[in-house]
Amino acid sequence: MSVPMKQCNHAGCRTLVPFNERYCVKHKQELNKYRYNKRMYNSNESKYQQFYKSTAWRRLSRRFLENNPICVKCYEDGVIRKADVVDHVQEVKDNWSRRLDESNLQALCNSHHNTKTRNERKKRE
Ligand SMILES: [Zn+2]
Ligand SMILES: [Zn+2]
Repeated sequence: MSVPMKQCNHAGCRTLVPFNERYCVKHKQELNKYRYNKRMYNSNESKYQQFYKSTAWRRLSRRFLENNPICVKCYEDGVIRKADVVDHVQEVKDNWSRRLDESNLQALCNSHHNTKTRNERKKRE
C-alpha cells in the first residue's frame, strides 16, 4: 500500500511529500534552522533578565547600595541625593564578564539612571 502524497507546504515548492508530513526534507531543515535561531536569540535575551533576578546580583547590589548610598552623578553636581539603583558603568550587554565586578558599579538615583539608559540606547541605534 503506497502512502498518499501531497505537495510541500512551502509556498511555490512542488516537491511531493507523504500526506502526514508538512514539508519536504529541504524545507523541513530550513524551518528547523529558523526555529533554532529564534530560540537562541530568546535564550540570549533571558540571560540578562536571569542575571538581574539572580541571588548573586541581588545580594551584591544591596550591599553596594549600603556602602554607596549617594547618587554619584548628583554628588558630582554638588547635590546629595539618595541612590536608588546600582548601575553598570560598562553595560552587562557590552561586557558580560564584569557583571559582578564592583569596580564596574556605580550608585545612581532613578533620574540619572533613566538618563543614562536613554543615552546608551541612542548610542546603540
Ligand atoms: Zn519544499
Ligand atoms: Zn542623581
